[in-house]
Amino acid sequence: MKCLIIGSGPAGYTAAIYASRANLAPVLIEGPQLGGQLTITTEVENFPGYPDGVEPFQMMDDLRRQAERFGTQFVSAIVDEVDFSCNPKKVWTDDGTLYEAETVIIATGASAKWLGLPSEKEYRGRGVSACATCDGFFYRGKTVAVVGGGDTACEEATYLANLCKKVYMIVRKPYFRASDIMQQRVFNNPKIEVLFEHNTVRLTGDQKVEGADLVYKKGLPEQEERHIAIDGFFLAIGHQPNTKIFAEYLDLDVEGYIKVDGDSPRTNIPGVYAAGDCADPHYRQAVVAAAAGCKAAIEADRYLNGH
Ligand code: NDP
Repeated sequence: MKCLIIGSGPAGYTAAIYASRANLAPVLIEGPQLGGQLTITTEVENFPGYPDGVEPFQMMDDLRRQAERFGTQFVSAIVDEVDFSCNPKKVWTDDGTLYEAETVIIATGASAKWLGLPSEKEYRGRGVSACATCDGFFYRGKTVAVVGGGDTACEEATYLANLCKKVYMIVRKPYFRASDIMQQRVFNNPKIEVLFEHNTVRLTGDQKVEGADLVYKKGLPEQEERHIAIDGFFLAIGHQPNTKIFAEYLDLDVEGYIKVDGDSPRTNIPGVYAAGDCADPHYRQAVVAAAAGCKAAIEADRYLNGH
């Protein structure tokens, strides 16, 4: 085949729209999370063309149907191995199927990070979550904590405040990293209490989360231990790019993001492109990912024409 696309977020679907309109007859392997990370947010308010906002599933379904209209084929599977040392490139999915493609567009996105506390693992699914939109409903009328100081943390805290009695935000720095508008929503919400300069040491509880031990001003003379009673603990501390299976062939940066050639989605292997959050530690926005998907498909078409 001419073009294989891995991933079904805004980058993957946009690459599929462009590649199918260029007659590359792409096959898109959807991966573990159909529609990508965006589908775990509540509402998309910043994608151009939706003045009233849009439900993430609706937006991803629109993109998918647009790609389908021009002939993209979709495969519901997870890629677990690749071999980019040969031409065509080889890609295997978890059901053992081998795909051979002259060009490959990687759009595998990124996944939520965890703090790495042993108790976090112990209580996963029993009070610990990395997705407020998915699990917030179970905490109606309860008290929860959100860890992180970025846009995701502010968005999740605001969302949870609509459902819960009280929301703590545990922020390790004395300030937020989030954009002003998101910070204002948090500060204006009487149900949210922000605990700046706090770190979580452990989660406590019998069978399920009932509290968290925190440290205030860790490592400073004023250091103090604190305990909060909570029913739910939500992680919102950023993301890890989903690039492990490509590490043998592609150049990655220290955080694991695929290195691309300046503004282009070209990787160190001709005919292999990376688009979206798997290659973007800076912007991590759906519209930026979509643009990168477009560029990747154009590059793939040019590469094929040159061969
Ligand atoms: P960010 O990387 O922006 O923020 C991560 C937050 O988690 C930071 O406050 C960071 O602290 C904190 N953190 C990281 N590791 C730890 C740790 N081990 N312990 C405690 N705290 C930790 O990630 P986001 O997911 O919030 O955002 C990613 C991108 O997506 C951003 O560009 C953001 O703007 C965008 N976004 C936009 C939205 C919108 O516009 N609607 C919604 C959601 C995300 P520190 O600051 O100290 O490093």
